[in-house]
Amino acid sequence: MKTSKYNVFFKYRGKSLAFNGFTSSFAEVDEDFNRVIQNINSIDYDKADEKTKKLIDDMKMGFFLLDDDANELSLLKFNSNCGKFNLQGLGLTIAPTLACNFACPYCYENNQSGMIDVEVIDAIYKWVEQTAEKKEQISITWYGGEPLLAKSVIWEMSQRLIEICDKHKAPYSAYMISNGYLVDDDVVAQFKKAKITGVQITVDGPPQVHNLRRKLKNSCEPTFDTIISHIKLFENAGIHVGIRINIDKTNLVGLEELLDILIANELNKCDIGFGHVRDSTSACSSISDTCLTVQEYANESYKCQKILLEKGFNASDFPYYPSIKANYCCADSLTAFVVDPKGNLYKCWNDIGNLKLSVGNVKERESQKISNVALEYLLWSPFDKPECVSCEVLPICMGGCPYNGLKNKKPDCEKWRYGLIDVLKTRYDVYCMQGDENEEQSGDCCGVRRRGDAGK
Ligand code: SF4
Ligand code: SF4
Repeated sequence: MKTSKYNVFFKYRGKSLAFNGFTSSFAEVDEDFNRVIQNINSIDYDKADEKTKKLIDDMKMGFFLLDDDANELSLLKFNSNCGKFNLQGLGLTIAPTLACNFACPYCYENNQSGMIDVEVIDAIYKWVEQTAEKKEQISITWYGGEPLLAKSVIWEMSQRLIEICDKHKAPYSAYMISNGYLVDDDVVAQFKKAKITGVQITVDGPPQVHNLRRKLKNSCEPTFDTIISHIKLFENAGIHVGIRINIDKTNLVGLEELLDILIANELNKCDIGFGHVRDSTSACSSISDTCLTVQEYANESYKCQKILLEKGFNASDFPYYPSIKANYCCADSLTAFVVDPKGNLYKCWNDIGNLKLSVGNVKERESQKISNVALEYLLWSPFDKPECVSCEVLPICMGGCPYNGLKNKKPDCEKWRYGLIDVLKTRYDVYCMQGDENEEQSGDCCGVRRRGDAGK
């Protein structure tokens, strides 16, 4: 037997804690666990007593221990390739328009007018039908520009896509990324009919901060109050809102005030996500000076999560927990594409509208060869980067965002490289100490206590 190279051990509140990146297992461990780890080379499993055998079995389940011939790196690579080159299902991020009613300074898109072509819509139906016939999952994300500028197209397309999936008994799911401004009771009702079960809406701070960043294109009218009232409309109708707060050096100070406003509006059940503002494309290069480095972002987003906890936000997954990644995102998945209104296909959300980075067109999809841009994204791999191969957070980072990796010609380290232990300590405070109270009542105790976090 041997120990995993993705084990992370640390002390906290007088306890020994152990995390394994390969399984995302997290355990409070005892002396017996530490004794096994320290003496792994001399322990003979067959000669061990029953209690030690049980402990070793548990440790193997969490990947803290492995058989001598296990090759973690090869297993990770295999999982990554399975994720990338899995041919099942279809994930389409569809922008029915690239026009937008907002003019946010950090936007990475070059907005363009125009609506999705009829031929493009028909080609999407055909593609979805070919996948649904095999009873495979269809996942749609409505995107833009601002997708609600094309709401009638979305409602119509949704009905047809749902019909196709119903006919073939294929699972269908839909989500939307919106600025949340063009919402009313009818839009909320249409979301239900269109089976759009969730929406991500950005709120970048309290009114005085948000209104400077989330600006209307042709008006000085503030947007904050309108967006908050629309989030309430969605939440009251049972449509889940993920509130995204894009953080940089300029808006961190307003966070507590924003959270108090959300609480006053009974929005403390929404999931809150902290986006990292980056100068990804030439369209947003002017904001470089205000962007946080990844290390600064790791520290600040951790502090923000602590504030969320202190203020009693009770969404399901706080603090954000490291999960195992196979592929990274749609860019390195063979069955996921971004579609613009003219049918041009892209691998990355950042590339939309940039024809040089298009990987084909939905109307000619069946006759097109795989493009060099698609190959670059799909073959982007942390396994040929020495720093990733030797990195202890590789399973939960996987080399980071392929777009930034290709652009900067080096892996794009995720925040876990800098903030993993802080997040685990907070997770321990939130979940494990509650668990201890329950266990004290039941009298249950063992060497490795998994908290059911694997895979989250
Ligand atoms: S490559 Fe990066 S920017 Fe593009 S979709 Fe993936 S995570 Fe997003
Ligand atoms: S990108 Fe950085 S943090 Fe991620 S696996 Fe590679 S070296 Fe580690």
